[in-house]
Amino acid sequence: MAEDSIFTKIINREIPSEILYEDEYCIAIKDIAPKAPTHVLVIPRREIPKLVDAKAEDQELLGHLMLATAKVAKQLGVDDAFRVIINNGSGAGQTVFHLHIHILAQKNFSESNLGF
Ligand code: 5GP
Repeated sequence: MAEDSIFTKIINREIPSEILYEDEYCIAIKDIAPKAPTHVLVIPRREIPKLVDAKAEDQELLGHLMLATAKVAKQLGVDDAFRVIINNGSGAGQTVFHLHIHILAQKNFSESNLGF
């Protein structure tokens, strides 16, 4: 059986992390190496390695993650301006193969900059 991802270990409290939000389907934690003053990861409890691995039965979960992302942005008071990023595959910068949504805020986003 494959080893649990680092995020599953965080969800299971085997590794410490600053948890900002959690519900039945997901948690939100502070990124350990923030690329913006606010950098939060919204992570489903279900271990889907990459967005392309999501299946039809994950539809409700994916919608839930979007609503949780908005809820967390409101909770943090950054809902007027934040960026949402999902890296899919190492070529796109994915380093943890457990689906997660980055919330980045309080950063000066220029229109041309779609990176971190
Ligand atoms: P990816 O590059 O896969 O899209 O994003 C993975 C993110 O997880 C990175 O921004 C990285 O800093 C963060 N990360 C990796 N390991 C840990 C950890 O143990 N704790 C927390 N809070 N964040 C982590």
